[in-house]
Amino acid sequence: MEAIATNFGIKEALNQLGIKAVNEGTSTGSNNFSNGDIIDSFSPVDGELIASVKSTTREDYEMAMKTATQAFKTWRLMPAPQRGEIVRQFGEKLRENKEALGKLVSYEMGKSYQEGLGEVQEMIDICDFAVGLSRQLHGLTMHSERPGHRMYEQYHPLGVVGIISAFNFPVAVWSWNTALAWICGDVCIWKPSEKTPICGVACQNIIAEVLRENNLPEGISCLINGDYKVGEFMTKDTRVPLISATGSTRMGKIVAKEVAGRLGKSLLELGGNNAIIVTPDADIKMTVIGAVFGAVGTAGQRCTSTRRLIIHESIYDKVKNAVADAYKQLRIGNPLDETNHVGPLIDKDAVKMYENALERVVEEGGKIVVDGGVLSGDGYESGCYVKPAIAEAENHFEIVQHETFAPVLYLIKYSGDVENAIEFQNGVAQGLSSAIMTNNLREAERFLSHAGSDCGIANVNIGTSGAEIGGAFGGEKETGGGRESGSDAWKIYMRRQTNTINYTTELPLAQGIKFDL
Ligand code: NAD
Repeated sequence: MEAIATNFGIKEALNQLGIKAVNEGTSTGSNNFSNGDIIDSFSPVDGELIASVKSTTREDYEMAMKTATQAFKTWRLMPAPQRGEIVRQFGEKLRENKEALGKLVSYEMGKSYQEGLGEVQEMIDICDFAVGLSRQLHGLTMHSERPGHRMYEQYHPLGVVGIISAFNFPVAVWSWNTALAWICGDVCIWKPSEKTPICGVACQNIIAEVLRENNLPEGISCLINGDYKVGEFMTKDTRVPLISATGSTRMGKIVAKEVAGRLGKSLLELGGNNAIIVTPDADIKMTVIGAVFGAVGTAGQRCTSTRRLIIHESIYDKVKNAVADAYKQLRIGNPLDETNHVGPLIDKDAVKMYENALERVVEEGGKIVVDGGVLSGDGYESGCYVKPAIAEAENHFEIVQHETFAPVLYLIKYSGDVENAIEFQNGVAQGLSSAIMTNNLREAERFLSHAGSDCGIANVNIGTSGAEIGGAFGGEKETGGGRESGSDAWKIYMRRQTNTINYTTELPLAQGIKFDL
């Protein structure tokens, strides 16, 4: 057991990131408002205690809010390109800490070390993106209907942005929000998932160093710890104009209602139920790579994981056999060992949900193609390692309609035209990511047309999983409708103001109204 932390340099990584060792007490980190109950973080990799943090009490939260509100007064006055310079320095610090943070992500969340590094790279990329954006926060100018008048719009910062994040992207989601929010002039309070609190402390330590080096108030970035009750401090708080919440649809429905009830804004990034359509014109080799990586990458715990393969009947058996064959080569084990493809699920509750899904699909009439099962024995002591499974199913099955956050892939057969496949693809409550594998231009364009995929992300000859930071990221329907990261996603972090200036000595009224005195 001791071996994993020692052999893979976890102890050194924790040390570099300013995390206290298990026997040294809780890791409060910088500007971490927490004096409540202890939260122990256990690794799904080997079941060992990584470190502990304290949760945030109501009093702690008030202190965080006070600190953030105070910091906002300084931060909003700094020109946006100067705020961009701070984000640039943050990106540099992330580069210096990339291996250590990537390792911690892998050890605390269970994704592969390569994916951990990839997550930190996304943080670096969004910083680069935000630096350029800090000189482009522009509004439009319009022609006034009144002579001698000028009209334009500008964007101002909102204030304190509350960020609630999920366990599966324990560091990147925070940075997608913060890098943009900061250049927009906002300050942030972050509540990471209670399942990955140490990643939160590590990130906070990195940004705190940048702020200290620039003599800026640390309240620009505040960290609070705990479960949904701590999240509710923010969702119910009228001093938080925007809540960015990433997690399950169940959580999103509660948060959306709470925030809308006080007329706040929310940016929701919720569950997906993503499908790849495989048409008779698909490149089978590309399809297999896209489908297998999409279904088993991060052990099926990505919001964009491939959950359904909708395959034309004419190539159904060929694709089924090719994917099943590829599954035989998967190596399941310690995600820090780069020879393994699949790591553990986050915890034993997730394992139960996985087992339940496999039972349910059979009960509903499905047929197992590649057997699942929980692994035990040497290297699997945490009890969180499961075999990626494949089942033949029908789209209307209740379990297929549901997002199971685990490596379970459903094969669904379609016949006739691509429209029938699109109907299956759209025939679920979620609307995050979708893909079509085809070399037929007509099919591809139909999939992308207004009568095509209803998802926030629609890809051709690429799987559903993963996205570049340059595009706006998010989904429709029960995925919540939010967009973050690239494109013009920055606008949600600002308030728009329309300005009209009269440079004459007259006061003409709009709409030609006369008001003679
Ligand atoms: P979760 O919903 O259990 O928890 C997410 C976060 O919400 C946690 O920080 C949790 O403490 C908090 N929370 C829960 N209930 C709350 C409430 N009532 N008020 C305030 N905060 C509350 O999700 P999870 O298990 O951590 O993550 C997995 C889910 O996240 C999956 O459904 C996945 O698809 C989704 N996800 C979506 C995206 C996306 O961009 N669309 C990205 C990552 C994960």
